[in-house]
Amino acid sequence: MTSRVALVTGGTGGIGTAIVKRLADMGHKVATNYRNEEKARAWQEKMKADGYDVFMAKGDVTSPQEAEAMVREVEAKLGPVEILVNNAGITRDGTFHKMKAEQWTDVINTNLNSCFNVTRPVIDGMRERKWGRVIQISSINGLKGQYGQANYAAAKAGMHGFTISLARENARNGVTVNTISPGYIATDMVMAVPEDVRAKIVADIPTGRLGTPEEIAYGVAFLADEQASWITGSNLDINGGHHMGW
Ligand code: NDP
Repeated sequence: MTSRVALVTGGTGGIGTAIVKRLADMGHKVATNYRNEEKARAWQEKMKADGYDVFMAKGDVTSPQEAEAMVREVEAKLGPVEILVNNAGITRDGTFHKMKAEQWTDVINTNLNSCFNVTRPVIDGMRERKWGRVIQISSINGLKGQYGQANYAAAKAGMHGFTISLARENARNGVTVNTISPGYIATDMVMAVPEDVRAKIVADIPTGRLGTPEEIAYGVAFLADEQASWITGSNLDINGGHHMGW
């Protein structure tokens, strides 16, 4: 198989770590970003102990300048970014009638504007080299909406519009652009939801359980594969049947 350079934003998080490991297992050179030096070092050490050598570049994805500097640092160390996974994300839940402007802008900046900030510095190179994979990690709630998540659902739905437009613009340059919409995954983000609310969510999932980060990473591996060259502008639902259809 061809070894590629992959950049996974938010690689230190629950889903991100599984994506980083999976892409590394496929033989790719993998990089991620960090914001906090101490936290990053601890994560990197843990990854090393598990047998993974991951390059880390400092960068807050809400800043176009930091995102570009991060991409350039990765390129200088590993080579041009060929697989980009826009995975960094946050929630700042609250019903809309009580939502503060910062809750709105923080979530839009981190989940959606980050896609511009990180994809913009890599897209020219992908187009020139006639090969690229851009994968957005959206959410089931970007498709169906969710009580208390007008900000998050808007950002995640925006990622789909971004994806299908970029897919059209770059299809003839060998660059595929897709989203994955995970359902509820057993990560810190979901375990922070009160237990009774979580139990109701699980009861609503046809498979009767939360998903695992590895099940999302499997989807990334599939879309990043050399053979996935005719899959573009798609959304891959990985949600245990929690939301089906359109
Ligand atoms: P985590 O909270 O575990 O990880 C989030 C990651 O994003 C962390 O590495 C965090 O880094 C990084 N990050 C957050 N803000 C920024 C920023 N401004 N700049 C750079 N990095 C940042 O989340 P998950 O792993 O659970 O989620 C990953 C993605 O999957 C998200 O986009 C989320 O919306 C989506 N998703 C998750 C679901 C779930 O059930 N968990 C369901 C559906 C979608 P730091 O340590 O610096 O904060």
